[in-house]
Amino acid sequence: MSQIDALFIAPHLDDVVYSCGGTVQQLTQQGLNVVVLTIFAGLPPATDLSEFAQSLHERWGHAAPTSRNTIVETRQLEDIAACHALGAGAIHMDYGDCIYRQDNGEWLYASEDAIFGAVHPAEEPRIQQLIEDIYRTPGVDENTRLFGPLGIGNHVDHQLVHQALLQCDDVLFYEDYPYAENNKALYPYLRDANWQPAYRTLAATAINAKATAMALYQSQLTTFWANKSVLNKNVTTYWQRRGQAERFWKFTGDLA
Ligand SMILES: [Zn+2]
Repeated sequence: MSQIDALFIAPHLDDVVYSCGGTVQQLTQQGLNVVVLTIFAGLPPATDLSEFAQSLHERWGHAAPTSRNTIVETRQLEDIAACHALGAGAIHMDYGDCIYRQDNGEWLYASEDAIFGAVHPAEEPRIQQLIEDIYRTPGVDENTRLFGPLGIGNHVDHQLVHQALLQCDDVLFYEDYPYAENNKALYPYLRDANWQPAYRTLAATAINAKATAMALYQSQLTTFWANKSVLNKNVTTYWQRRGQAERFWKFTGDLA
């Protein structure tokens, strides 16, 4: 694979395009080789699922065990289409979403509270593994710019990827969207001198391309927006609130 100029790392199949798809489009328009790497993009386990995971599958309309792969396979295809629409490549790792992960036969995250709670101690070694995975991605070298989630919204998968990238050099952290619609979630960063904002000004064409790509995640659309025109309006308003830009954050302090 050819050298990657910019690697955008997503916890889930949609996070990068939702959060900073305008920047992805702008960089590919400049001729850069951009790839979106999604970490927790693997298929559900073939075993029984937790009651919580089953209830989610029912809500998503895939209650039958025979159709459980369809959920993730559909999202993988949506992601490839959305990344391609922005001129970027897509790589999917085969780690499962937190609702599918176990330790010693116990589900690690078996409720809504758990998936927005603390990272399970059994997953600590995963952070080091993720750092190795990121640097081993074919095409990544010392000149590759890394982008990753700030961790707004506190989803455990976002926290894990954030923790891993915090230990990598020169990472720009994107504001996890739509969680970042909640202004209060950004307050800690605005008040912390260790975190410096960086704005990437974007033309309306980049934001329109982003909104169009976002709508390609059809299975996710109605979870977040009533319809496509609401999506367009929210994305445009968010871009204007940021001064016609997407905002990133750089950590300049020392790790605890
Ligand atoms: Zn996510």
